[in-house]
Formats: sequence, structure tokens, C-alpha cells
Amino acid sequence: MKAMTENMHLDLFIGGKSVPAVSGKIFEVEDPATGKRIATVAEGDAADIEKAVEAAEAAFPSWGGMEAEARARILNRAAEILTRRLPDFIDVEVSQTGRPVREMKAQLQRLPEWYSYFAAVARTHEGSVHPFGRNHLNYTVRKPLGVVGLVTPWNHPLLILTKKVAPALAAGNTLVVKPSELAPLTPIMLAEVLEEAGLPAGVYNVVPGFGATAGAALTSHPRIAKIDLTGGTETGRVVAAAAGKNLIPFAAELGGKASVVIFEDMADQAVPAALFASFIAAGQTCVQGARLLVERSIYDDVLKALVERANAIKIGTPSDPKTQMGPMISAKQRDLVEKYVEIGKAEGATLAAGGRRPEGEEYAGGYFYTPTIFCDVKDDMRVAQEEIFGPVVCVLPFETETEAITLANSTQFGLAASVWTRNGARGHRVAGKIEAGIVWINDHHRVDPASPWGGFKDSGLGKENGIVCYESYTKVQSVVANLSEDSFDWFDDDGREKRYS
Ligand code: NAD
Repeated sequence: MKAMTENMHLDLFIGGKSVPAVSGKIFEVEDPATGKRIATVAEGDAADIEKAVEAAEAAFPSWGGMEAEARARILNRAAEILTRRLPDFIDVEVSQTGRPVREMKAQLQRLPEWYSYFAAVARTHEGSVHPFGRNHLNYTVRKPLGVVGLVTPWNHPLLILTKKVAPALAAGNTLVVKPSELAPLTPIMLAEVLEEAGLPAGVYNVVPGFGATAGAALTSHPRIAKIDLTGGTETGRVVAAAAGKNLIPFAAELGGKASVVIFEDMADQAVPAALFASFIAAGQTCVQGARLLVERSIYDDVLKALVERANAIKIGTPSDPKTQMGPMISAKQRDLVEKYVEIGKAEGATLAAGGRRPEGEEYAGGYFYTPTIFCDVKDDMRVAQEEIFGPVVCVLPFETETEAITLANSTQFGLAASVWTRNGARGHRVAGKIEAGIVWINDHHRVDPASPWGGFKDSGLGKENGIVCYESYTKVQSVVANLSEDSFDWFDDDGREKRYS
């Protein structure tokens, strides 16, 4: 594997080979902590997508027709190889995203689990037999879909890709991946791991490039069997329309604005809970606890302590193990965060913490921003409703359980929420009434390959993780066998009663 240097260059990966783009174009990837170039990457577009789809089509009959057990063996080997190579992946992930090494180490260490989990699912998943009537045997089998297009974002480049690659491969599909233009390096590097694990050429193809060119060409390609996207809600609408046109399944993990509901009886845990939910990944996660709903009786104390702790978060160089918060992914994202802070102030919210770039030499060139807390927020303010995707949170008080539920449900999004209480019955009662695809009780942002993940409302369609995800990468064939030896002739008027259905 190539070491991370300023001169790193990665090509497309098609049909088991690294190849330059047909156009010969390249683009730069920068380290958001310094604004400096860390690599160049071949820039794919429609012509490269075509080549990648052809390679994936050619590989499909043998990969899709292989015994599940043989595919599972390859995935288990991939888990082992990835475990061995994690240090390289962590380094590159830190450099291309600016996420602190303490976060990326913790996150990437878990990725091999996805390959071993879905290897086990492929090996153990069973078909079903249906009660059709005693003269017939009706069973269903699951078949892979074909060539699947995966489009991924920059915030957890390898985690999100892995959540799609492992189940899609386990089910027997071949893949064309379009990673984010801001963080394409680890998705390309993953090809080496899969190749070493024994994945046949053409099963995993990667075409880095931009959304409007490579992304649009992949998601509107007429020979793709499914699209799985993680990205913003507006991108989701555009890609859903392309999938609709081609009448293919579409899965989408989209934007969020998660609420963290903290009841009085969890006052002692409120601040660490809120800090983790709000500021991990500098707030650049889809399940960020962007709306902290705090019971009125503890609101003032929680807000005061939260401000103190947020101001003490160590912002700095991502590769330093002591750094707790890195930069925004890009100048554009940092500018967007600044714009929202201005909007919040203009709307009348009070800035309780942050709201500025940190000062100092070490931040020059990077896209750093301080942890920012708004209070005196009204629920209909834009800062309280719209996804900002940065270290900006709104703290709102609530009086009753009913009001907390109403507030938690009052945005267009429905990806995730957390409920913090020592009253077990209340935890489950509130969770059940929150319109979100994932609700944590006394926790936030926990994920497991076995645990379904996906949003309601404008946060997406379909689920990642778990058996439900494996099944979504298959199509069901229903086989109906007539077991009777009686002859059957509908058009013979022999006076016998005929069965139609
Ligand atoms: P984005 O929508 O800008 O881009 C996501 C991917 O889509 C990129 O690869 C991009 O190139 C591609 N793309 C953009 N326009 C396209 C088009 N017209 N056709 C095809 N592809 C196109 O999102 P981002 O900025 O990379 O990621 C941040 C967003 O992702 C946030 O909204 C966040 O909430 C969401 N997200 C959701 C989850 C989840 O699990 N629900 C997880 C992570 C991120």
C-alpha cells in the first residue's frame, strides 16, 4: 500500500486494474486541517462509468452464481486483511477528512466486523416455504440484483462505504462505487484489500469524480440494478428521480437534525451526553444531536456546564492523539457554518458559546470552527430546523414529556434521536412516539452491523445493517410446483370442476 505523501496519486479501479480516466483528467484532494494538497486522483466521468459498469456486468454471472459459502470465505479474509492494514487506512482517513485520530481509530477498528457479519448472514440466510395449498409446494429463493451503484459522502468515507459493500457483496452483487470527491482515497485503497482477499476482478470497481458528472452518470445508468446513496436530502431527491426513471430500487441515507431529549433524572449525564452527540466529528455527522431538548428544571444548570465544557474542547491537528476536534471538511462547509451562525443571530437566538474561528498559528490554512451553542432558540428558527452539518447546536427547554415529543418530531427529518432518562418505562414510551428511524435510550450514535440504520421522513429510504439490509440487496423469486398427478385441461369441457386460482 502506498504511503501517505504529498505526491500520492490514485487512479480509477476498474476490472481489477488501476487505470487513468478516459479524459486523462485528475483532481486534487486536500487536507482540511492545512488546506494543502495531499493527493491527486483520476477524475472519472460518464465514459469511465460505462467501462466500470461493463466490467461489473462481466463479473456478475460468476460472482452472483457462486456458492454463498465461497463468497463468505472471501469476505472473512477481507476482514482479516483490513484488520492488519488498519493503520494505513486510519492515517489516510485522518488526512482526507480532518477527523481526529482518536475518532478514526475508534471508528475504523470496527469495520472488519461488517465483513464477518455479512459473511455469516450469507452463509446462514434461509429461504421460505409458503402455505399455498396441499397440492402445491411454494418456496422462495433470493437472488442477487446485478450491478449495484454505490454513491458515498465524505464524513465517514470508509465506514459508510463498508456498510454498503459488505451486504451487497455477500448477496452476490457486483459494484460500481462513486466516492465523495472530497474523500475518495480510502474507497480506492479498499480495492487492494478485496483483491488480496480473493475477490474476482470486476466485482468491485471505483470511479472517483464529481456528483454532477460521474455521480449522475452512475445513478442514471440504464443497466444498474439498484442505487444506494448516502448524502444530502436534496441529492437524494435528484437520485431518487433517476432511479424512478429506470424503475430500480433506491436506498438512501440522507440528512438529519437529531434531537437529544434529556429528562431531569439524568441531570448528571446530561453534559457528557450532549457533548458527544453534538460535537463528535465537529458536528459533521448525519445523527448529530443538533437539537438539545432539556427539561426546564435543569435547563439553566445544564446550559452553563455545557458552555464551559464546549469551550474546553481541544481543537487542533487531527493526527495529534490529544486533539478532540478537527476542522470542517472544506472552506465551503466552514463558510456555510458561518452563514448559519449569522442567520441564528439575526433570528434572535443568543450565542452562548463559540460562533467564531479559533485564533492561533496552528489553525492558519485549515477550516477550523469553535464549538457553538445557541440558546433562546425558537423551534421555528432556521438554525433549529435546517441541517447545518457543523459544530452548531441549539438548546431548547421543555416542560412536559408531551412537549418534548412534539419538539423532537417537529422537523422535516427523522433519522435519529436519543432519550435520556432513568425511568425505564418513560424511555421506551418516548422512543415509541418519536418519528425517527433510530432512537437510542441513554446513548447516542451507537452502531452495529446487526442493527438496522436508516431514516424516516426526509432522512431517507431503506435500511443499512442487519438482515433487512442483506435482503434489500436481493430479489425474491417465488417458485410454485404442482405436486398432483391429476391431469388438468382448462378448455376440456369434461364436466369436472376446474381450479383457476
Ligand atoms: P452530498 O449529497 O453533497 O454528496 C454525497 C455523494 O453524492 C457524493 O459522492 C457526491 O459527489 C454525490 N452527488 C452529488 N450530487 C449528485 C448527483 N446529482 N447525482 C449523483 N450523485 C451526486 O453529501 P455530502 O456533503 O458528501 O455528505 C453530507 C450529507 O450526507 C449530509 O446531509 C449528511 O446528513 C448526509 N449523511 C447521511 C448519513 C445517514 O446515514 N443518513 C450518513 C452520513 C452523511
